[in-house]
Formats: sequence, structure tokens, C-alpha cells
Amino acid sequence: MKRLFRGGTVVSGSAAFRADVLTEGEKIIRVAPEIEESADEVVDCSGKLLLPGFIDAHTHFDLDVCNTTTADDFYSGSRAALRGGTTTVIDFACPNKGESLGYGLELWHKKAEKCQCDYGFHMTIDDWNESIEAELDDMFAAGIPTFKMYMTYPAMMIGDGPMYEAMKAIHARGGLCGVHCENSGVIDSLVAEKKAAGENSVCCHPETRPDYLEAEAVSRLLRIAQAADSPIIIVHTTNAAAMEEVAHARDRGQTVYVETCPQYLTLDKSCYYQEDWLESAKYVCSPPLRTEYDQAVLWQGLRDGAVQTVSTDHCSFTTAQKLAGKDSFTAIPGGMPGVETRGEVVYTAGVASGRIDLPTFVRALSENPARLYGLYPRKGVLAAGSDADIVIYDPAADHVLTAEGTASKCDYSPYEGFKTVGSIEQVYLRNALAVNHGAVQETQGIYLKRGASTL
Ligand SMILES: [Zn+2]
Repeated sequence: MKRLFRGGTVVSGSAAFRADVLTEGEKIIRVAPEIEESADEVVDCSGKLLLPGFIDAHTHFDLDVCNTTTADDFYSGSRAALRGGTTTVIDFACPNKGESLGYGLELWHKKAEKCQCDYGFHMTIDDWNESIEAELDDMFAAGIPTFKMYMTYPAMMIGDGPMYEAMKAIHARGGLCGVHCENSGVIDSLVAEKKAAGENSVCCHPETRPDYLEAEAVSRLLRIAQAADSPIIIVHTTNAAAMEEVAHARDRGQTVYVETCPQYLTLDKSCYYQEDWLESAKYVCSPPLRTEYDQAVLWQGLRDGAVQTVSTDHCSFTTAQKLAGKDSFTAIPGGMPGVETRGEVVYTAGVASGRIDLPTFVRALSENPARLYGLYPRKGVLAAGSDADIVIYDPAADHVLTAEGTASKCDYSPYEGFKTVGSIEQVYLRNALAVNHGAVQETQGIYLKRGASTL
């Protein structure tokens, strides 16, 4: 079936221009100023923006963590993603220590069978030995060229030496590593001090995970990457001190990719100091929210290219799950929902507020993740030959974000009451209508084998 999107403004990573978009089957077949060709359906897009479906390269659906399981599985999580204009997610397959990568991959394929949007996986490396190394080629053959490592969390951290070795082995095969950077040892000591002093309010969370301990880990990671002579991705970067370390490494000639998240661009640590315990606990995530100054530095990074991507680190827990940490701040499950609100929050706080322009927005949410994670130009751009993943954004349809009517199984929104500028009107997944004015249709996502980075 041929569908003509007529009269809209098409946005790419480099420009915004008046154009019509013609699709057929699952693909875009033409993008041009005035397409006269007849189509089975014409979608009037006058006054609207046509954006390439967003890619969220950092989600955690159906993850067993913090003695519980995330509220969103691949079904509810992907429906929330689509509702937020995200047509592709890259989730983290996460085998436990001692399990093989192959087992982890198989498990994640099973979890993702009900995924409604397109999806790929990064593979978590939390252990390093000969048998894990021997599995790397299988991972690349399965379309997984990106790997996640942790510098914190005892269950997942790998250690500096093994991280260096893994990085080298992965780089030698043309792959990339993304790393969670926080200094585990000192954080543990700070936590022990708080507990010994009998302190247990939610603000102990950010106070034991300060910005400079994230920056220390970023600095150490970058030196390890230097030793391995490997490019590196820093995931969910939150603060100015960490960005300084990135600048130093780039000055040395290293290739560093930086991801941040909407919560670090728009929310600050005052969220942890609210009167109500649960209200504060809703915002517990690691690394924690920082300051308005850090936000400004991250926005500047998006403008000048120091920050490449905005993903969400969607890791949702209900308020009932958050309550498990009532008596111990370290037992509050860490993570927030975000996959459903990223587009509108970043558009509002970024584009509509004059912090970034439209092409920068599209680079951060679509084009750069597609390039970095080996999906471009199938994804990340509206061009002939690309998948017809299309978001129709109405810049005039302001609304208020609320957890009500959300597709996520999380029962709260960190952005409750946030006034958006504009809203996502329709979302097409490979030319199938997936969202119509907030109503999510049944669709079926497909697994995406990914190739090498082209960013
Ligand atoms: Zn994460």
C-alpha cells in the first residue's frame, strides 16, 4: 500500500525542509517537495513535523534487578516506547555472572518476542574469561556489535583489568563498549558512613554518589580505553565534571561518544529533598540527578557536538516496588520510566526553549543512535530506501504529561504536570500506524541485526 504524507516539514540531522514523503510496503520510496503521485492514503501533515522514528539505545525491559523485576516487560515497554515516538529500542541482554552470553541472548530473544516496536540488543559483559571471549564472534554474527560493562554494582562490575582485556578483544572485532561509570569502592564507604550515622532519607542516595565519583570513573575508563587503543561510549552521562574528563581525552586524540538522558537534562537533585518519602524515592536512579549547572553543560554539549545521543535508561518500578526501600535507602530499586516521554520532554525543554535546534534534536534521538549502533540508514533518517518509521509531531498541540493513560505499567511519571510544547500525533512503524493520537495499536516489532558503527 502506498501512503503519501503531504505538506509537512521533514527534519533530518542536518536540516528541516518542506517535503512530502511517499511510502510503499515497509519502506520510504521518495522524499521530495511536491509529490503528485497517487497513493492509497494521503495523510495531511500541514503544520506538522515529520521526524524519523526515535531510537532509544538504552532501555531495561523485563530485567530482574534489585530483588524484583522491572514494571515494564517488552510488551508494555515497547507500547510506551511507540507512544513516545520511539520505533526502535536497543535493550541490554544481561546474563548473570557464570552464565554464557549465548544463554543471555536466547533468554532476551524469548523476553522480546512480544515487543511491539523494532529492537536490538547490547550484550552485557560482567565476567571475563576464555569461554566468554570465545563467544564474542557469535555475538557479532548475531548482530550484536555493542557491549555493556559496569564500574559499579558488585553483581555486574567486571574490574579494570578484565575491562581492558574485553575492550581490546571487542575493538579488534570492530565492536564498541558502553560503560556505566561510577567509583564503586568509595561509594560503598560513603554508604557505610551514612548507615553508621543512622541516616536513611532518600537524599542519602545522591549524597553517596556525588558527581566527582562519576567523573573519577569516567577518567579511569578513558585511560583504560587509551591503553586498549579503543573508542568508547559513556552511557547516561550526568555532569560537568565528567564532561571535563571527556574533553581531556578528546584533546589527547581519543574517540569518545557521550550519551545523556532527559532526566539529566531537565530534573535536578532537589527531587530527592521533597517532604514526602515516596515522592523523593520516585527519582532514585544511578547515577543520580545533579544540578541545573550540570544540565546547562549537557545542553551545551548537545549544541556543540560533545554529547551525541539522548537515550532514556528506562528502568521502571512502581511506587509499591519503590516502597521496598523504605527502611534502607540502598534498597530502593534504582531507575525511572522515560521511554514514553523522551521525545516531548526534549522537544519542549530543548527545541521549543531555544536550547537546541530541530536538526540537533533529530541527531540526538534518531540519526546519531542509528549511526553509532549500526542501523543507519535503514533507521534514523527519512529518505528513499529507509524503513518508514515516521513520527508526526504537532508543534501546536500542547498538553500536560501525566501517568494517567500511560502505556507503561509504571504507576507514576517523573514528569507529572510537565507542560509540553506540542505532541506526538501519529507514529508509523515500517509504514504501519502504531499510534494515533495517543492510542497504541497492535503492531509487531522485529529483531534488528546491527552492523558496525558509522558515527
Ligand atoms: Zn541502564
